[in-house]
Amino acid sequence: MSASTTKQPVPTCGRCSTAHITSHGNQACTAHTSKRRPDGGLIGCTQPPVTALTVCRLHGASNPRSKAKAARARLAASASKTATIFGLPRQVDPAQGLIEEYCAAPASSLPTNASCPGCR
Ligand SMILES: [Zn+2]
Ligand SMILES: [Zn+2]
Repeated sequence: MSASTTKQPVPTCGRCSTAHITSHGNQACTAHTSKRRPDGGLIGCTQPPVTALTVCRLHGASNPRSKAKAARARLAASASKTATIFGLPRQVDPAQGLIEEYCAAPASSLPTNASCPGCR
């Protein structure tokens, strides 16, 4: 045994009684290939699943619902990343947040004809 990583053990699949593991040793797609074992059993897919999904592109990740789910997950991930970057620990209305940012900017950085809707 050479690996000393802290990877989560891949659970055994209830349908094929085998853990679906990618070539990198991670949890693979939870679907099964169209091939069968000599004894007729299912063969687990070993493709890495699409982010936020449990299946690979071949096994349903390309259908609209799965795509939407993956897209939402990516959006949520990038949104929380953006919040971290800008240090915004609170939930504000986007428009209100923009006004606050605008008013907080140094006057010299604003165009001379600026009329901030929050400053009226
Ligand atoms: Zn399986
Ligand atoms: Zn698959």
